[in-house]
Amino acid sequence: MSALSFDFSGKTAIVTGAGSGIGAAIARELGRSGALVVVSDLDEEAGRTIADEISGAGGEARAFAADVSDPAAMKALTDFAADHGGGLHLAVNNAGIGGPSAPAGEYPEDDWRQVIDVNLNGVFYGLRHQIPAMLASGGGAIVNMASILGSVGFHQASAYVAAKHGVVGLTKAAAMEYAAQGIRINAVGPAFIDTPLLKKNLDDETLGQLAGMHPAGRLGTSEEVSALTCFLLSDRASFITGSYHLVDGAYTAQ
Ligand code: NAP
Repeated sequence: MSALSFDFSGKTAIVTGAGSGIGAAIARELGRSGALVVVSDLDEEAGRTIADEISGAGGEARAFAADVSDPAAMKALTDFAADHGGGLHLAVNNAGIGGPSAPAGEYPEDDWRQVIDVNLNGVFYGLRHQIPAMLASGGGAIVNMASILGSVGFHQASAYVAAKHGVVGLTKAAAMEYAAQGIRINAVGPAFIDTPLLKKNLDDETLGQLAGMHPAGRLGTSEEVSALTCFLLSDRASFITGSYHLVDGAYTAQ
């Protein structure tokens, strides 16, 4: 399969949760396409490894460790990117966690708070600082990583489903507010993607069952999510904002 190619020369991008899985694939593709990529992750070493990989392949990248659920850290990340890159033009609020499996009537309250804090509040803290930085840079584009579970439910995952539905709503509201000022904000909804997030939570039998739930007959790949995300970040998507874009092997078409 030939790669879609984008030109992000002269743009500075933040990708959160970029030390692994989908975020790492997006950071690599932005780096290959000419952006200065700020590779951010909770895990400092994972972020540095991906930044080094991008630099080693001829791209420009910096690592910056930040917990998306910490508003001060999200401000520091945004300031770092804007200072090093001569402004901020692109952002992908991608960091997320799965949370434990339990029905809503038994869901542990601390885990509920943590999943909402990372998966929903973390996206808000990103937007809260990225939007002013992009206004100061003359505009930009943001993708928030939702999920198919931003539009349908799933057993034993009420916190994750609630957070991802929230990300879709937050994306729409913020996109309306800034469309006339040159900032586009979209959400992406992947189905089940073959990443460490799935593998660290599920055994092989469950992974096989999940693959079979997609009419495409398999899990998606991080690169397939990255292709859609980079298109939405690119100028080719200049009239696309405030919407939620599935990459799901027909999972939600059933
Ligand atoms: P992943 O491989 O686990 O990567 C997520 C990265 O985010 C990890 O490096 C993780 O670090 C980091 N992270 C976790 N909490 C963080 C925090 N508070 N602040 C900053 N970074 C944090 O997961 P993925 O599958 O690529 O998922 C990326 C995004 O796609 C998530 O928002 C997820 O909900 C969404 N998504 C995934 C799937 C799927 O099937 N994989 C489907 C739909 C949507 P640690 O490893 O140290 O925790």
